[in-house]
Amino acid sequence: MAAEPAPDILDAFEAAKGFMPVKEGLALYAAAAEAAALGLPLLEVGTYCGRSTILLADAARAAGVSVITVDHHRGSEEQQPGWDYHDPDTVDPSIGRMDTLPTFRRTLHRAGLEDHVIAVVGRSPQVAALWNTPLALVFIDGGHTDEHAGADYEGWAPHVAEGGLLVIHDVFPDPVDEWTGQAPYRIYLRALASGAFTEISATDSLRVLRRTGAVTPGRG
Ligand code: SAH
Ligand code: MG
Repeated sequence: MAAEPAPDILDAFEAAKGFMPVKEGLALYAAAAEAAALGLPLLEVGTYCGRSTILLADAARAAGVSVITVDHHRGSEEQQPGWDYHDPDTVDPSIGRMDTLPTFRRTLHRAGLEDHVIAVVGRSPQVAALWNTPLALVFIDGGHTDEHAGADYEGWAPHVAEGGLLVIHDVFPDPVDEWTGQAPYRIYLRALASGAFTEISATDSLRVLRRTGAVTPGRG
């Protein structure tokens, strides 16, 4: 049976601000629990207010590994004022820009998970360029333009350890279901076409792929 979060963790997840339905969250948790057994850290791109981070952190805690979560905390395009996914509570009134870092910190603190998470505040490609540690799991849930999703894939997929998992959120193969575009779907296709990843599960828009081959720079 797939690993499941404890009831208090699930409550914290459901109470947290964010963009992950419970069903996909449970699939993410199961993937994280399985991957964490490799004894390597888990990495998330797209922290927002920490909703999905809670699940990764609980799975990491159980296995004695860390989660690294990367976000500039200024929000994606569709989360800016005037757009569909904007939440006025995420704006820092003193600078008039989004800042999801304070909410994220409160969320993790309340869930009792701060000790298991390293938050990196910055742009995903800049962080990826400095990265040199194999990862048990990479969860891509950042920007939804081709520029951002493509850079997340190129920057982080090579760091997934052999046997580790690449998890991609907001994969919509049918344009009818599209809400912020199909860039995540396109990186999912690239990962499969690269020959380095094999799909192991699909839960609504959440896809879990296992690294089964070498990631060749420039391919896919
Ligand atoms: N995982 C979250 C949702 C993430 S929303 C949840 O479960 O609720 C997407 C996040 O990606 C936003 O917070 C945005 O600031 C961040 N983001 C978008 N493009 C980014 C980039 N290039 N580098 C770092 N963070 C980015
Ligand atoms: Mg998402």
